[in-house]
Amino acid sequence: NPRTGRLEFHGVSRDITERKKAEEYIRHMAQHDALTGLPNRVLFDEHVAATLALSRRNSTKFGLMFIDLDKFKKINDSFGHRVGDLLLQGVTSRVLQTVRASDAPARIGGDEFVVLLREIRSTHDALPLAEKVRLALCEPFEIEGHSFAISASIGIALYPDHGFDAIELSRSADAAMYQAKGGGRNQVTMEFVETEQARPVGNVFRR
Ligand code: GH3
Ligand code: MG
Repeated sequence: NPRTGRLEFHGVSRDITERKKAEEYIRHMAQHDALTGLPNRVLFDEHVAATLALSRRNSTKFGLMFIDLDKFKKINDSFGHRVGDLLLQGVTSRVLQTVRASDAPARIGGDEFVVLLREIRSTHDALPLAEKVRLALCEPFEIEGHSFAISASIGIALYPDHGFDAIELSRSADAAMYQAKGGGRNQVTMEFVETEQARPVGNVFRR
C-alpha cells in the first residue's frame, strides 16, 4: 500500500478463499443428492464404514433401514415427474423429522432412502423407529392444492445379527425390504434372529 507503506495481499487471499469455496462446493456436490440435499451413496458408505469400525471396537449394535416408496412409478406416470420430485422432497422432510440427526438419512437411489440406526441397544429398538417412519410417510402430502397418499416398504438389518460388514448388512436390509414388498407393501420387515434373551427358553425345552 503506497499510503501506509505496508505490504498487503488482498488479491491473493481472496483468490484462495474463492478456490476453497469452489472446492467445498464440488466436494458437497459429489457427496450429496441435488434434488433432496441428502447425503448420497458415496457419503453414506463413509458413514457406514465409520459406524462399523466404532461398533466393532465397542461391541455395540447399529442398524440399516432401507426405505423404498411403493408404486412410485405410477405417481410419475399419472401426475408427472415434477410432482414426483416434490414428493421425494416431501418424503425427505418427513424422514428428517422422524429420525435423529445422528441417523444420517441418505438417498441412495431413485425412490430409495436409507437410514443409519445408531444407538440401537437391542433388536427391539429398531422396529418401533422404522414403524414411526412408515406411519409418517403414510400421512397424505399436500402438493399444489392436491393431496397425495403414498406408502413405503421398509427393511431393517442389524449389526452384528444380520451381517458382519457393510456388504452383508446392505444385502440383508435389501432382502428384508423386498420381503416387505412381497408381503403386500406398506410394512416393516426384519429377518428373525434368535436373540440372547430367547435362548434360555430353548434350553428349557432341550432339557
Ligand atoms: P415398487 O413398489 O415395487 O417399489 O414400485 P415402484 O414403482 O416404486 O418401482 P421402483 O422402486 O423400482 O421404481 C422407482 C421409480 O421411481 C422409477 C421412477 O419412475 C421413479 N423415480 C426414480 N428417480 C426419480 C426422480 O429423481 N424423480 C422422480 N420424479 N421420479 C423418480
Ligand atoms: Mg419403489
